[in-house]
Amino acid sequence: MAVPKHRTSKAKRNSRQSANDKRFLGELSLCPQCGIEKLPHRVCPQCGFYKDRVVKAPKNQNA
Ligand SMILES: [Zn+2]
Repeated sequence: MAVPKHRTSKAKRNSRQSANDKRFLGELSLCPQCGIEKLPHRVCPQCGFYKDRVVKAPKNQNA
């Protein structure tokens, strides 16, 4: 197995890690029901709304 010859610098390491982080999810669309930003073609995480109807129960409502 190959062994690294030199220690990776902080700048190189951080640059590589920032290029691969998953903070950016891509383009977001607005939920027509509650107006929050959500991923397109996904059920809204807040109200469970998709395609003119409620698909799954909302997560943050206890009543
Ligand atoms: Zn919503």
